[in-house]
Amino acid sequence: MTPEKPARPAPKCPVCGRPSVAEAKPFCSDRCRQVDLGRWLTESYVVPGPPPGNDDDAED
Ligand SMILES: [Zn+2]
Repeated sequence: MTPEKPARPAPKCPVCGRPSVAEAKPFCSDRCRQVDLGRWLTESYVVPGPPPGNDDDAED
């Protein structure tokens, strides 16, 4: 049997894809952490709401 799973999985920075560091887990640097945080805040501003359903079909 040859388990191909690495003994120590290296988590990648979700922002730039570089190997993360323990100091800024799971990011590679504090900067990327800020970037990710900014993304969350930005996405919070633009909340995709459901389109207005003015499809009032009169049953005639
Ligand atoms: Zn990064």
